[in-house]
Amino acid sequence: MSVQIEPQPGIMEIALYQGGQSHVDGVTNVVKLSSNENPFGPSEATLEAYRRAAYELHRYPSSDHAALREAIAEVHGLDPARIICGAGSDEVIAFLCQCYAGPGTEVIHTEHGFAMYRISALAAGATPVEVKERERVTDVDAILAAVTDATRLVFIANPNNPTGTMIGEAEVARLADALPPHVLLVLDGAYAEYVEGFDGGAALVDARENVVMTRTFSKLYGLGGLRIGWGYGPAAVIDVLNRVRGPFNLSSAALAAAEAAVRDRAYAERCREENARLRQWLAEALAGHGVPCDTSMANFILARFADADEAEACDAYLKSQGLIVRKVGGYNLPHCLRITVGDESSCRQVAHAIGRFKAGAA
Ligand SMILES: *Cc1c(COP(=O)(O)O)cnc(C)c1O
Repeated sequence: MSVQIEPQPGIMEIALYQGGQSHVDGVTNVVKLSSNENPFGPSEATLEAYRRAAYELHRYPSSDHAALREAIAEVHGLDPARIICGAGSDEVIAFLCQCYAGPGTEVIHTEHGFAMYRISALAAGATPVEVKERERVTDVDAILAAVTDATRLVFIANPNNPTGTMIGEAEVARLADALPPHVLLVLDGAYAEYVEGFDGGAALVDARENVVMTRTFSKLYGLGGLRIGWGYGPAAVIDVLNRVRGPFNLSSAALAAAEAAVRDRAYAERCREENARLRQWLAEALAGHGVPCDTSMANFILARFADADEAEACDAYLKSQGLIVRKVGGYNLPHCLRITVGDESSCRQVAHAIGRFKAGAA
């Protein structure tokens, strides 16, 4: 008898997520600027909380995450009862698709949107629908035109990855207001911490019943390796998501580290300021070498080359110099390279290498 074991529809359409490369054959001391990590790592207080957690590893972690939710709520002025924590915001995105999308439904994401929206939609059996952007900026009218009776979720990252661009609060509110009642708007705020004075959409969540915000500790807080993210939404939505969440989805060490990280406002502010300073320096240095980028609001810039061949050649040259950036052909941007804003030395190295490339070094 031959077996007929088949995965659920949609699963085999998922292309495996390509993470940022972290080594180059034959090169030691690479500079990794491919995954939007904080070059300074987590704060000292965060590391101390993580070390202390080592003494309690035989205990199961909290299943309601009350202490971390309380800390997040205090710092951001939110209702702790409407926060859900996940193993990275990726897990919260997966919960949203699992709970609200499925076979016969559609999930909207933008042309250059984050890869996990499509992956999570397919994993839930739903159909991902890609919507054009306008010159690498989220286009609210194009999203609204793509909404059908089958649409259940709309994902936008604001600021967006890999473009670094964002749309203003009035545009986001216009989108939330114009969506039909069966559609939930998800505002992915993975880079919200990098935008001075920006709440990531939290006020809109409070003011509407159809908006959810996701956030992460992986970027500004320098904890990508620990997997901690969170979501904020209407009580009814958070109640639904909590039903599919595993009771012990976050480890005790992750909970302790995240709580310390979010309370360390001085460190977060220093990281935000340093990123803004170096991002501007890097963008200007690249412009000086004839490589433009859009104004980025995040911790990376999207460098635009003449065409895909030039971007490919520059990427190869940078690799030969031990500098790893991110190719974004998979995001419909084959003529671009996404470069994380590293520390000062990394920024200088990558800018000088691109200058040498443009001067014909490759
Ligand atoms: C990095 C990133 C995330 C965060 O992923 P985690 O699972 O929290 O590490 C979410 N959305 C976007 C757009 C990102 O770039």
